[in-house]
Amino acid sequence: MPSTHAYGFTSPTSACTPIEITRRTPGPLDVVFDIQYAGICHSDIHTARGEWGQQRFPLVPGHEIAGIVREVGERVSAYQVGDRVGVGCMVDSCGECDYCLAGREQYCPKTNWTYGSLDWEGNPTQGGYSQSITVTEKFVFRIPDSLPLDQAAPLLCAGVTTYSPLKAWVKPGMKVAIVGLGGLGHVGVQIAAAMGAEVSVLSHTLAKKADGLAFGASDYYATSDPDTFPALRNRFDMILSTVSATDDYSSYLSSLTKTGVLVNVGLPGDSIQLKLPALGPARTLMGSQIGGCAETQEMLDFCGAHGVLPRIETISGEQITEAYDQVVNSAVRYRFVIDTDTLGDRG
Ligand code: NAP
Ligand code: ZN
Repeated sequence: MPSTHAYGFTSPTSACTPIEITRRTPGPLDVVFDIQYAGICHSDIHTARGEWGQQRFPLVPGHEIAGIVREVGERVSAYQVGDRVGVGCMVDSCGECDYCLAGREQYCPKTNWTYGSLDWEGNPTQGGYSQSITVTEKFVFRIPDSLPLDQAAPLLCAGVTTYSPLKAWVKPGMKVAIVGLGGLGHVGVQIAAAMGAEVSVLSHTLAKKADGLAFGASDYYATSDPDTFPALRNRFDMILSTVSATDDYSSYLSSLTKTGVLVNVGLPGDSIQLKLPALGPARTLMGSQIGGCAETQEMLDFCGAHGVLPRIETISGEQITEAYDQVVNSAVRYRFVIDTDTLGDRG
């Protein structure tokens, strides 16, 4: 089986260090591609640090992957050598259940996640902090020429996770608030603005206000200011929370119109405590998980057409460990992206 240079973890407390991993021998429907860039999602950190439960080690995270096709199996029809492609959080699913048939592969009970799963042969899947990956063509997406590969990488998770619920709910002119201006949040602001929403950001502080307005928001509020939530009662048609820690969802609910929707995509390790006010208004509270395959391609095309571009800081393999701490401290502007040339000699 072909091997590739990677960076990964040997325990929940280890640094991220070089390792060699193997990829399966390509089958007739497989696309093999040279990974050029891999984004660091906060989910990588929750997983590697054991915040979502016990993991299998060694673990190579990374589910925001962009690169160039090197080889295609004989039955691959959608891609050719040299194509610009990406892979997100999933590498396969059963293809037969109601969720798969509805294009919502992310809810299939047999989804093979890009890392941390077992594939059909029972081998652990390993993610994008590596120099190549082999994925069945349905789970490979085309990156529009207008999107540089390094900035396209974060769209494969941050992009689709925000696009999916925004697409489901937003109509032009709606008042939408994005909570948390991090990796997901700063893409969500751009997508919501491109959909014609009037966008506000709810952030801990006003420190990133100028950036939020530049991404397309018209208003920006500090959730730490005691005057903020009383002033926002019944304000928003939709609130999309991307916060990576447990948070005060009750205040968000009361900031919705009487028929508004609060979609939470943040996935902190601790369960969410929610003190519901006595119900009366017809508000909706829901979760949402990434997006399906067709929706992922639709999102990439949308971002390509509307100039939605993540703002990134490119780092080397050796900087991953430190970058994790910076993400946890909200000190990234706004996504770290690993240049995979730095993971080892491509030979
Ligand atoms: P991120 O870049 O770290 O951004 C998270 C933002 O949350 C921060 O920028 C910060 O925004 C806010 N925040 C952090 N700590 C906070 C605290 N203690 N209290 C209040 N706000 C806090 O993370 P990300 O990569 O965007 O991911 C965000 C969350 O979404 C993670 O939990 C991740 O696992 C999850 N996620 C879910 C899905 C899904 O499918 N549902 C997909 C991808 C990621 P401000 O500084 O602006 O306040
Ligand atoms: Zn992610």
